[in-house]
Amino acid sequence: MNSNDKNMSAESAIIQSNFIHNIIDEDLKKGTYGQKVYTRFPPEPNGYLHIGHAKSICLNFGTAIKYNGKCNLRFDDTNPVKEEVEYVESIKEDVKWLGFEWDELLFASDYFEEMYQLAVKLIKKDKAYVCELTPEQMREYRGNFDTPGKDSPYRNRPIEESLNLFEKMRTGEFAEGQMTLRAKIDMASPNMNMRDPALYRIVHASHHRTGDAWCIYPMYDYAHPLEDAIEGITHSICTLEFEAHRPFYDWVLIETEWNNPPKQIEFARLEMTNMVMSKRYLKKLVDEKLVQGWDDPRMSTISGLRRRGYTPSSIRTFAEKIGVSKANSEVDISLLEHCIREDLKLTAHRKMAVLDPLKLVITNYPEGEVEYLDAENNSENPELGNRKIPFTKELYIERDDFMENPPSKYYRLFPGNEVRLRNAYFVKCEEVIKDDAGNIVEVRCTYDPETKSGTGFTGRKVKGTIHWVSATHNVKASVRLYDYLFVKSENDEEGYVYNANSLKVLDECYLEKSFEDAKKDDKYQFNRHGYFVVDTKDTTENHLVFNRIVSLKDSFNKK
Ligand code: ATP
Ligand code: MG
Repeated sequence: MNSNDKNMSAESAIIQSNFIHNIIDEDLKKGTYGQKVYTRFPPEPNGYLHIGHAKSICLNFGTAIKYNGKCNLRFDDTNPVKEEVEYVESIKEDVKWLGFEWDELLFASDYFEEMYQLAVKLIKKDKAYVCELTPEQMREYRGNFDTPGKDSPYRNRPIEESLNLFEKMRTGEFAEGQMTLRAKIDMASPNMNMRDPALYRIVHASHHRTGDAWCIYPMYDYAHPLEDAIEGITHSICTLEFEAHRPFYDWVLIETEWNNPPKQIEFARLEMTNMVMSKRYLKKLVDEKLVQGWDDPRMSTISGLRRRGYTPSSIRTFAEKIGVSKANSEVDISLLEHCIREDLKLTAHRKMAVLDPLKLVITNYPEGEVEYLDAENNSENPELGNRKIPFTKELYIERDDFMENPPSKYYRLFPGNEVRLRNAYFVKCEEVIKDDAGNIVEVRCTYDPETKSGTGFTGRKVKGTIHWVSATHNVKASVRLYDYLFVKSENDEEGYVYNANSLKVLDECYLEKSFEDAKKDDKYQFNRHGYFVVDTKDTTENHLVFNRIVSLKDSFNKK
């Protein structure tokens, strides 16, 4: 196992110790599985992966790296109705992008025959039976937390009869819902999962890999332990909601008679503020076209975060920082944002971009002159070098960097005031030009050639520095600003509602000339505005589209 991400050092791959690693350390000491550590990441290909899955990927693959073990990518494709090849491909891409390589790429459907044979074995041991209760009757017989269940009238049918019916289920003689194969355990068990759970159901649907070879499909709880055991997994890591399923996980492996069966270990799933972690819900957003697609930059999907400009290392760092525990909690999204800021802080070039332009004309600057001013690419990282920025008579500044009637403590441009143009000169506002409707369309200034940046001018000081872009030597672009896709709501039962105002598109933005070289997926800091990425989908040869990854203000440390 290794990594295909240049940012991934051996150190960052090795995740910090956690309670799962303590269990593994014990097993290694006792030699439970010899010196073997074998994990797997087992997604169901019924949607795109989200940041919660990234936690599980980092944990499973990271654990294998830490112990010099192995980790498989296994598709848990036991539900033909919801699964698609598109999802399989996207999942592979996401795991690779996060920087991990699987040892083996496997599909639960590869084991359908073996699982079937093991079910036959259970019937022969009188540990399973074919039941003809309807789904409603089944629910009724199951009882609830307060009342024990009742035995199905089919529970004690002869073994031969069950064998015969199970075979006919396989050959397609029955309709969906007509019969199930059930484990014979204990209808009075206080654990509902042990009340003769279903092992197989009839589904007359084509499977994305096995086609029409099967019309019975194993239930997740029966299939999963077998998949783990067949692959020789040692530690089967899953989320907390499966804790109550563990006795059944163990039952399956004991009754199908495995030596050294794998061990299921549960951890708390990732929940985050302003993010939804349910494939079902994310799919709904896609289907109802409330977002552009699974990779909409506002989505909690890995493909959405990638398009938003998140780096693999920022997500791995995030997974590391949140840690692994048994206690459910909600992680504040500001932690994820903190991780990408930290990642880009010293690597992204910092440049000027005007998102809401207002024309500024320097009346005493020569017409037609272009001066190339020197600027550092990243003031905190001299290694990124310098660049030249064209300075001209006509410029754009940010509309809100000018006010005609400013309040006190406004230090930017207003009539009669002098400010520094970043990397350039002091300018003083002399005149405001308005259109017939009274809108400000231009500000006229004079500049002082003595005040050029980098010349050590100390004659006088100004309180404000604003950014600018030449109005004649620039790159025009579109910029998308995002708000969270979900906002907190006291009224909604889920605590969140969809935010219809989560996307703002600015189509008249002017960027420094040096953006001419920008390529898809390049990441920058726009001075004062935040971090931005060149969108990989909507950018064309002639038009750059940027997504704001995150603003500059870090609220994480305060929280
Ligand atoms: P969803 O409810 O979003 O469909 P799932 O659990 O059904 O998620 P799977 O494809 O079955 O999705 O998940 C693959 C693996 O990822 C499982 O081991 C699962 O426990 C883990 N996983 C899913 N969601 C989270 C989460 N929010 N935090 C941590 N791990 C998760
Ligand atoms: Mg699932």
